[in-house]
Amino acid sequence: MAKVQGAIVVDIQKCKGCGLCVPACPAQVIRLAPAMNSKGYRYAFMEHPGECTGCANCSLVCPDTVITVYRVKANAVN
Ligand code: SF4
Ligand code: SF4
Repeated sequence: MAKVQGAIVVDIQKCKGCGLCVPACPAQVIRLAPAMNSKGYRYAFMEHPGECTGCANCSLVCPDTVITVYRVKANAVN
């Protein structure tokens, strides 16, 4: 069975740390980083990258559209 895996790339310097993407992710992939970007905002990152399904919910809710979602089909190994 081919399984769909996803990944997101956050434009860290444009993220305002609003946190809307965190609860929007059904797989609880995203968290706000303890570190800040150059504007002083805690930015979003993938805390659990292996759980991302590429559903794009996070990208849809981001008011600044700084999340890009990638989807790949991977063959399940187990
Ligand atoms: S694409 Fe979906 S599963 Fe992946 S981080 Fe965004 S909301 Fe979560
Ligand atoms: S919704 Fe967008 S701006 Fe807000 S924390 Fe997530 S990536 Fe950053």
